[in-house]
Amino acid sequence: MSQRWLADRLSQFDSSGIRKVFDLAAKLENPINLSIGQPDFPVPEPIKDAAIQAIRENRNGYSVTQGIAPLRERLLADVQQEYAHGDRSVLVTSGTSGALVLALMAVVNPGDEVIVFDPFFVMYPSLVAMVGGKTVLVDTYPDFNIDVNRVADAITPRTKAILFNSPANPTGAVVQPEAVRELAQLAAERDVLLVSDEIYRAFCYDGEFISPATYNDQVLVIDGFSKTYGVTGWRLGFAHGPQLLIDNMTKLQQYTFVCAPHPLQWAAVAALDTDISGYVASYRQKRDRLVEGLADLYPLATPGGAFYAFPQVPDSRTGSEFVEEAIANELLIIPGKIFSRRDTHFRISYAADDATIDRGIEVLRRLAKR
Ligand code: PMP
Repeated sequence: MSQRWLADRLSQFDSSGIRKVFDLAAKLENPINLSIGQPDFPVPEPIKDAAIQAIRENRNGYSVTQGIAPLRERLLADVQQEYAHGDRSVLVTSGTSGALVLALMAVVNPGDEVIVFDPFFVMYPSLVAMVGGKTVLVDTYPDFNIDVNRVADAITPRTKAILFNSPANPTGAVVQPEAVRELAQLAAERDVLLVSDEIYRAFCYDGEFISPATYNDQVLVIDGFSKTYGVTGWRLGFAHGPQLLIDNMTKLQQYTFVCAPHPLQWAAVAALDTDISGYVASYRQKRDRLVEGLADLYPLATPGGAFYAFPQVPDSRTGSEFVEEAIANELLIIPGKIFSRRDTHFRISYAADDATIDRGIEVLRRLAKR
């Protein structure tokens, strides 16, 4: 094929790091897999039944672009009960990822700056690059809380948006309520759009989830069903925010994704009435199990949410070198440099059964004492 066919923007994407992990992993027979960013619990039966019923009832064509009325109305009612903002509308999207793509397409002009916290969810800098923007990283090591003064210093006349994610991937960090409030207020004062990725909001272990939208009625919230209900393959998300922004994201959805998967939107209505608190409680126990197993040997900020921990390598090995050794010991984890400018940490996902977590702890204890 002619190289000329490939667009320049592809140079912005580098998936070699994560591919290397998966290539190494493919050679293992019985790996201890703590690398997966999705819940290990099965989709609750009432949600499956609702999806099957929708397919049987022939709800298989397109839906309206903004999402089926019963789902949008329910989401908006929940959102308004929480925030009571005068100017807030909802759009159902193709995954949380779809909502992020639409948001960045809707607000970033080529050359605009977007503030991203380091460590970051892998997609953020790539999506910013895809729309011609420039990522400005704000470091949050070692505790992954946010220093709002650093954010203030990073804002320039070209700053369009701040991408915020708490509970966070890859750290599991839940940003302190005080910092959430200050960040929300800073964005309002400096006329910058704050985008809050709340995909892990159901997984908060040490206190209530607090959205920056509580303190700033112009925050764009990005949320989804993937993690909360274990349906990552269904590609269902939603966004809520100021009407003008949501209307423009809807327009872009019409010319890209068209609509979120239609029958699954009906299942999402059922999902909103499904109690998953038992799963969340079990993930809290898994969090405690992992932290207890590692805290004496690894520098580790106790993760308050999601299902990730992000320990530091306890010696002079880089994160990448460390992960190669872990994989040689059958343990699959992800090197921190995939999510960061630094190569000092690694991500563990504890969305796994307890026996797998225990095997992982055992290998990590051995690797630390090497
Ligand atoms: N945001 C964050 C922080 C995530 O971790 C993920 C999934 N790994 C997404 C967004 C994308 O989720 P979805 O499957 O809904 O596109």
